[in-house]
Amino acid sequence: MLVLNATYEPINVCTVRRAVVLLLKEKAEVIERAEWQLHSERASMSRPVVIRLVSYVRIPRDTHRRKITRRAVFARDDWTCQYCGSRSNLTVDHVIPRSKGGNSSWENIVASCAPCNRRKGSALLRHSGMRLRRPPGTPSPHVFIQVASPTIPAAWRAYLAA
Ligand SMILES: [Zn+2]
Repeated sequence: MLVLNATYEPINVCTVRRAVVLLLKEKAEVIERAEWQLHSERASMSRPVVIRLVSYVRIPRDTHRRKITRRAVFARDDWTCQYCGSRSNLTVDHVIPRSKGGNSSWENIVASCAPCNRRKGSALLRHSGMRLRRPPGTPSPHVFIQVASPTIPAAWRAYLAA
């Protein structure tokens, strides 16, 4: 279930159960529905596929809630090594090594192929002669949507493309 903000900006993915609660409380409206029905003892409704929150929700800027996982790091970095562009043997690399006080934040973790990771070792970036292809940062909600739902239903595409 894709959840859009009041502005139609995609914000996350939720379960059908959660979506039904939001709809029953009139906190969300259905934007796209599936052809088949959901049945309960009391009512039946078309299964929503895309819902939109009725009132605007501020996306939390504190990114601690957005869990850093290998999958999310790889998705943010387009499954490419951020040093050489390779797409195989991906690992995650701390740009400032943990041994040098680097933390595990979105700004300090990138996808790196195993050879680059070995080459860089525990050196600081400026001593390694290696360069990042782009500065790492907090991923957009799209990345988390991709991670939460490996197959993107066709009905979502129009909203994710925006
Ligand atoms: Zn590499």
